[in-house]
Parts: sequence; structure tokens; C-alpha cells
Amino acid sequence: MSGKIALALYSGGLDSILACRIISDQGIEVKALKFVTPFFDHHLLDVRDVYCAEIRDKYGFEVHLVDLSEGYIDLLHNPAHGFGKNFNPCIDCKILMLTRARQLLSHYQASFLITGEVLGQRPMSQRRDTLRLIERDSGCEDILLRPLCAKRLPPTLPERAGWVDRDCLYGFTGRGRRPQIDLAHRLGITDFPAPAGGCVLTDPNLADRIKRFYAGLFMLEPEQFQADDFRLLLVGRQLRLPGGHWLILGRNERENDKIRAFAGEDDWLLHMPTRPGPTALMRRAGQLLSATANEAEALALAAGLVVRYGKKTGDQRAAGEVLLEQADGQRLLSDVAPLSDTIFQPWIV
Ligand code: SF4
Repeated sequence: MSGKIALALYSGGLDSILACRIISDQGIEVKALKFVTPFFDHHLLDVRDVYCAEIRDKYGFEVHLVDLSEGYIDLLHNPAHGFGKNFNPCIDCKILMLTRARQLLSHYQASFLITGEVLGQRPMSQRRDTLRLIERDSGCEDILLRPLCAKRLPPTLPERAGWVDRDCLYGFTGRGRRPQIDLAHRLGITDFPAPAGGCVLTDPNLADRIKRFYAGLFMLEPEQFQADDFRLLLVGRQLRLPGGHWLILGRNERENDKIRAFAGEDDWLLHMPTRPGPTALMRRAGQLLSATANEAEALALAAGLVVRYGKKTGDQRAAGEVLLEQADGQRLLSDVAPLSDTIFQPWIV
């Protein structure tokens, strides 16, 4: 062992697994950082210990989850290097992750950083000039080693100082996956995830919803945005009620549970106590609606939607009771009629 420690940016994909293994096979301790935000991998925070143990058992290195939500939510307002095809700010995303990783070097007593990037693999964020820009803007020049394509790039400090043997690094380029898959087999790595986008910012539909959210879709001030807003934005049916109020309806029990789990102090929850159906959440209604002239109308619409999506009685959508849960108590709304589809269809986001 060289006594050196490397911090890795670990996405969970094959390239980052290989980067970690290449370096740890040189006797360097690798600590992998898995960044999470509401837009990718946030659910891992709920299963942190199980996830970290699984990675250690499968691949032999230690992984640490780092919640990057706060800086990331700000970043999406106006990324300096713009967006990719959807709402994905890939260049600024990498700069943010590397900046955070650099700041964590001393915490982990690490000397340098590694990533699984491959020159030319992605059209925007992995071009040679972009790789250099990312290094520069994150303050990682010379301490960022990319083991999969290092032989195509100038030697970095870890190579020149002899901590890492450059001859045992690789010179992969381009979009092909064959060299990485062959290397995985040579290293005995057989269980690795298929390449798939775990980042919702690259999903055309969800990215568009998030973009509209940033553009002021609901009655929320940008400085109020929190991680749970985006977790809620990605679950269930989304509706913009007249006046801009935000309503979320669960489509099944799992979504109902999630909605309830993400509810804040200021949110109102509605459901039918005597019939199966959606849990609805009116975001920040306590602050935006309580004791206003719009309260009764907005509440009636939300309750009508809960009944509309509730289980039918026979083949009828009959009126029913809806329980409203607020921070300071509960209220039963009786004889709520289902809202007509023609009324609310234009409100669906
Ligand atoms: S796809 Fe998502 S997580 Fe990956 S670099 Fe782009 S914005 Fe970041």
C-alpha cells in the first residue's frame, strides 16, 4: 500500500466501478463518494447502511453518500454552462460534484480525486476541452485522475509523484462499451448495472415538469424550494389548481405513503376515511390559503378531486366524506361530490 487515499466520484455505473478498482488494485485506498440529490438517487438516503454494505461486499471499496441537494437546487436556477438536451446541467453538475469532493479531501485524508469519465464518451460533458474546463472550474487541476482514459491525457500529480503507475491505467475513448466490459471481466466484475439514466433531468417528460416548476408553475417563491418539493413533484398526479395552488394525488398505496412521508408542517393532507382512494397533498396550504378568501373554494376543489379518484360505489362515483388533516387538527368534510373531469383536465400538469 502506498499510504495514499483517493476519493472517487461514484455514480454506481460500470465506469466508476472500474475507476475505483483500477486504483485500489494499485494498493491505494479508495473512498467512493456517491452524491445524491432529489433528481438522482435520493432514495438511497433511506437505505444508507444496506446500500453501503452491498457496495463493499460486491466491489470491495467503501462508499459514502453525500447529499448535494441544497447546492444543486440553486444550481438549476441558472447553470453557468447551460443545459443539455433536457433540463440536465451536466457540465455544472460535474463541477459542483468535483468542487464538493475537493472540499472533502482533507476530511477523508485523501490526496487526489478519480472519476470514471471516458474521453469522448458524451458529446457535451466529456470532450477534451470540456474535461479541462471542468477541472479548472472545480479547482481540481492536476489532482483529478481519470483512470479509464488517463493515457490520452497529460500525466497528473498522482502519476508524476509515483503514487499511481501510469502504465497500469487505460486510454479508452469514445462511446463504445466493449473495452470496459472486457476489463470488467478481466477484473472479475460480473455483477454491474446496465447503463441507464438514473437522473430524471435527462428524462424528457420529468425534466419538462421540473423546468416548468422552476419557471413558476406553482405559487412558490424560488427561495422556498426544498428537496421535498422535488420529491413530491416526481410522485403521483400533479395538478395546478386555479390561483396556482399545488395539489398532488397518489395513484396507489405506495404513492399515498410517499406523499404522506414527504408532507411538511404547512401542507394539508386529504383522504377518504371510509373508502379506498388517493391521499392528496396541498403544498404549503397552511401558509398560502389559511384564513384567505380562497380557502373554501380551493379546499372544495381538492376534496372533489379526492372523491373523483376514490373507489367507486358499485359503478357510481358517489359523493363521500373527506378528512382534512392540518398541523393543528382534523376536519371532516361531508357529502363531497366528485369533481367533473371536464373541470379539472386543464389543471393536470
Ligand atoms: S446526467 Fe444528471 S447526474 Fe449525470 S452529469 Fe448530467 S445532470 Fe449530472
